Amino acid sequence: VAQNPAEPEFHQAVKEVLESLRVVVEANEEAFRRDALLERLVNPERQFKFRVPWVDDKGQVHVNTGYRVQFNSAIGPYKGGLRLHPSVNLGIIKFLGFEQIFKNSLTGLPIGGGKGGSDFDPKGKSDREIMAFCQSFMTELCKYIGADTDVPAGDIGTGAREIGYMFGQYKRIRGLYEGVLTGKGLSYGGSLARTEATGYGLLYFTDEMLKCNGKSIKGATIAVSGAGNVAIYAIEKAQQLGAKVVTASDSTGWIYDKDGIDVELLKEVKEVKRARLTEYAAARPSAEYHEGRGVWSIPVDIALPCATQNELHLEDAKQLVANGCYAVAEGANMPTTLEATEYLQKNGILFAPGKASNAGGVATSALEMSQNSERLSWTFEEVDGKLQNIMVNIFHNLDDAAKRYGMEGNYVAGANIAGFEKVVDAMTAQGIV
Ligand code: NDP
Repeated sequence: VAQNPAEPEFHQAVKEVLESLRVVVEANEEAFRRDALLERLVNPERQFKFRVPWVDDKGQVHVNTGYRVQFNSAIGPYKGGLRLHPSVNLGIIKFLGFEQIFKNSLTGLPIGGGKGGSDFDPKGKSDREIMAFCQSFMTELCKYIGADTDVPAGDIGTGAREIGYMFGQYKRIRGLYEGVLTGKGLSYGGSLARTEATGYGLLYFTDEMLKCNGKSIKGATIAVSGAGNVAIYAIEKAQQLGAKVVTASDSTGWIYDKDGIDVELLKEVKEVKRARLTEYAAARPSAEYHEGRGVWSIPVDIALPCATQNELHLEDAKQLVANGCYAVAEGANMPTTLEATEYLQKNGILFAPGKASNAGGVATSALEMSQNSERLSWTFEEVDGKLQNIMVNIFHNLDDAAKRYGMEGNYVAGANIAGFEKVVDAMTAQGIV
């Protein structure tokens, strides 16, 4: 805390991980101390902070701050998204980069951990302004990334449009046509099923977790928060698996649709028109719109937080438990506060941490990297099939890790331990670096 002041989200993420690793460290304390393994783990290998000047449509110059944190490359090139949101600061990027190390390890694929972004707000900007920002951002970022060193992807505020503008600028400056970014459009190296991957992966993981605990998604009622990339495809897959999803939200309000969310209408409002959820409610008689927060007040069997960090608080957890909810699986990164997580676990709720349950996005990004290296593209079914296997394997790996340390059913500890073991093994083998 003294070395990294004013980074509460980073401290929160580190605390959660280190607490669950206590048992592993205690089993081999001397080696951990001698090699300063934990100290090395929580210090990024490298971090960049840079100026991003760009010109708006009226000729006014704006200056944003860009970040890229290259956290850990023990098991592969740095990999992790770029977040464009006014709340972005170094502490948020570091929390996301730290989580990414374990998530990427859990996928079983050779990718290290990194994250980046900017405090730029894409909302209300014209296409030309978005392009001006993305080009300026990449003009600096391109010095630090490459297909074999660091491969960024999308995150909040960075979708296919932004990735396209950044890819174009990278190619123009570096003169390289390579898989330096993932989440690309299908006409220039993107992978089928990448758009759907995080949301679909969340449901494949949740389905396996429920099956192994004698429950089923089929017939369940589900609350989802968010209305972005993860939320939309989580809703779509949940409904394909026979559940009814009754909520969605954005940063200004939320909807309750008693007949189940109409996912095509939601896509039209959010992906095509880039509009607010009020438009969904206006077009759908069965839906109510409410300002502010509130998705967790609806009685459901399963809750899937898919918006942003720290959006499910202790009071929400109490409400969910009181309403009979039996499973919470995180689609977003760290959406549940530490107190809420503890409360849910103590009350016997099946709780899937984001670093495991939302790993389908980065796993499919790694599959996009493989396709780019091979100069081939795989079918939707091929990628989706690999994604399903990866998510099922992740569940069993963390379930086994929790059992090995006598913490059966504690999937938070299981995910941290399973992700950590591989990274620490690679770090130890590579010496003091
Ligand atoms: P999007 O930008 O597509 O959507 C984010 C959604 O969350 C929007 O509905 C947005 O509302 C809402 N939201 C964002 N910030 C806030 C806030 N401060 N308060 C309330 N609502 C907010 O992002 P994604 O769907 O891609 O990402 C969602 C989460 O999933 C993030 O935590 C991200 O890190 C994580 N994630 C994403 C992956 C991916 O592949 N996309 C992979 C793994 C994790 P509004 O439109 O009003 O801003």
